[in-house]
Amino acid sequence: MQLGQLYKQTVNQFKEVGIETPEIDARVMILHHSGFNHADLITKGTEELSQGVIDAINKDINRRIAGEPVFRILGEREFWGLNFKVTPDTLDPRPDTEVLVEQALSWLEQSELMSQKRTLRILDIGTGTGCVLISIIHELRQKYDPNVFKDIYGVGVDFNFETANVAYQNVKTHKLEDSISIVQGDWMSALANESFDLIVSNPPYITNLDITTLSKEVQNHDPFLALSGGDDGLDCYKKIISQLKTQLNQENRAFLEIGVGQVNDLTRLVDDSNLRLCDSHPDLAGIPRVVEICCGDK
Ligand code: GLN
Repeated sequence: MQLGQLYKQTVNQFKEVGIETPEIDARVMILHHSGFNHADLITKGTEELSQGVIDAINKDINRRIAGEPVFRILGEREFWGLNFKVTPDTLDPRPDTEVLVEQALSWLEQSELMSQKRTLRILDIGTGTGCVLISIIHELRQKYDPNVFKDIYGVGVDFNFETANVAYQNVKTHKLEDSISIVQGDWMSALANESFDLIVSNPPYITNLDITTLSKEVQNHDPFLALSGGDDGLDCYKKIISQLKTQLNQENRAFLEIGVGQVNDLTRLVDDSNLRLCDSHPDLAGIPRVVEICCGDK
């Protein structure tokens, strides 16, 4: 079968079953297996595909029709311009989470830490694919020469061993083994005696009730553990904030992603802990998505 023929046929199949973005999904899947690029779809539409390639594509098409999201089928997802391996044990990195990376980087770059010529220490709680931590450290390494700060050291913690394993594979893919350690553990308890300049987290924050209203693609394919923040959605924040009390000082800061409408809940939790919610940052839809937490008397 020819490249162009298979593309048209796949788009039609996807349309028939009501897939929302039939063209993009068909394109991404066909290009992934065939080795052709975007422009080839137009200029090389008459190229014959080998039976092996057609079989591989058909297998994925069937998974897509059965409701699996395209990036889960391919096992990789782009985030902050980098590719990340995703598996059934990891949350699919979301574009909204790029706000967390953006704000953490922007604070760090304006802070005095940048000129202290020492090792910067960053902690990511509930690291999942490692996308947040890897993106921050990758960006800093690209942008600054080693004279600005002596070195960067990141720790990504995840509760689930298999998830931590995926994060470590992503660390290796981006050649950051020297800068990032991945630890399996319960929130910050494994790290009680360490201190960090920047703490980031995109913890599970959806209420158990709201999970039942999410799209089937999310409900059936993102791990429940990575979505669920308990009955009120705040379970993980309560644990993180209680541990931030001993971590935050005049110099460092924590950035947490939050769900829709959780900014008031977070303000209350932070105030109750004698910490301070010093800022919040919206996503592209204008919804407060990231809160910035600092030491209470700053
Ligand atoms: N930090 C990871 C991400 O943002 C995983 C978050 C999670 O599992 N809740 O994708």
